[in-house]
This record gives sequence, structure tokens and C-alpha cells, in this order.
Amino acid sequence: VSSSIAVGFDIDHTLCIDNHLERVAILHLLDRIVGEGGHVLGSPGEETAAVDALLAEQRDGRCTIDDAVRSFVTQRGAGDPETYVEAFRRMALSMVETFVVPDPYAKHVLHELSHAGIPTAVLSNGWNPLQHAKARRAGFTGTVLASAQIGAQKPRREAFEALVEALGVPPERAFYVGDDPKGDVVGAMSAGMQAVWLDAEHRDYPSDLPSPSHIVRALRDVPGLIRSVVHA
Ligand SMILES: [Mg+2]
Repeated sequence: VSSSIAVGFDIDHTLCIDNHLERVAILHLLDRIVGEGGHVLGSPGEETAAVDALLAEQRDGRCTIDDAVRSFVTQRGAGDPETYVEAFRRMALSMVETFVVPDPYAKHVLHELSHAGIPTAVLSNGWNPLQHAKARRAGFTGTVLASAQIGAQKPRREAFEALVEALGVPPERAFYVGDDPKGDVVGAMSAGMQAVWLDAEHRDYPSDLPSPSHIVRALRDVPGLIRSVVHA
């Protein structure tokens, strides 16, 4: 039975927390922007909010991370945005080891699923090798699909279809575990997957979105949920 089911995971706030790694990496560009004739647009707090707004657009699938960096740099009058995109990517990668903190149970959960013969994969909005490095930091050693590579961001159905294909099971036998109602739950369900909403912070689920197939309060509850569904 177990061989015919599979589990996909979101990364951020599911397998690990990244402590605003990308926010900090973009803010570090300000120094260089000013040094090369650009200017800041607001106070440090306002610049942080501006970065977060761009990253929210990226998470919602409205732009890529490269687009977010280009916008930030261009709005502040800096030179060739592409050199900043490269600098951002290098900096972000170098920060993974210190910024990314895995869920303390992530390795255990992944091991338990692997031990039960259940295929797993990761699907994340963002770019490799950053998402790959974050997943490795959480002890995940399998396939990491990043939206920039598949050409579709969550919540688009195409992103989840790529995941289902990587998992190698029919969509209704594939679970997707994620914390974001729109990006993770709605997206996974649009591809016919079983969406598991990870609600670690006991939030209210948005009333205008379709309800998740399952809810867990912690990552460590995932293997038990899978077992209960398989044996039901
Ligand atoms: Mg997430």
C-alpha cells in the first residue's frame, strides 16, 4: 500500500525556517547601490517593508526572485541590475548554513517516510541551488523542484503537476504538506493532490478558500496522518 502513495513538502515554515534570509540578502545590496550612485527610498524600516512586499509578490507567484531583485535595484537608481542579481544569489547561498534552522523533527519525519518506502520530494517557489541547499539543511536528500526551473510558481497547477510527476504516483495518492493556504493548499488541490495544511501557529483558515484535505499542527504529525489515511 505504502508504495502507491507519496508525499511532497513545502520548504519554508514547513521543513525549516529561513529567518528572512532573502530579505537580509537583498537589504545587504543597499550598501552597494549607494556606493554605485543609487539612493535609498526610506528609513531602514521602510526599506525592510519594501523588500518584504517584493518577496510577498514572489511567494504569491506574481514575479520571480530575480524580478524582485531587479525591481529593488532599479527603483533605487543603481546600475546594471544583473550584477546585483548575481551578488544577491551568491550572498543568499552563503547564508544558508547560519540562517536556515530545520524543524527539529524534520530528519526524523523524512527518515520515517523513507523507512516506510514512501517517496518524497520538495516543491518550493524560488530558485536552485538555494532551495536545494535549504532542503539539504533540513536533512532532505531527494528531488527539490524549484519554481524557477519548472517555469511555474505555486499556486499554479502546473507546478504541482511537475511534483506529482516527480513523485510517480497518481495525484489523488500524493500528499502535499505546506503552511500557506493559498500557495500550498489551494495549489495542491487544483492538481488533484491531498493537501495537508501545516498550521503550527493555530491560525484561522481563510474562509474564501477551499478547505484543506487534512490539517496537522506540527511537522512531526505527518507520518501518523499518512498512516491513518492509508489504513482508513
Ligand atoms: Mg511555506
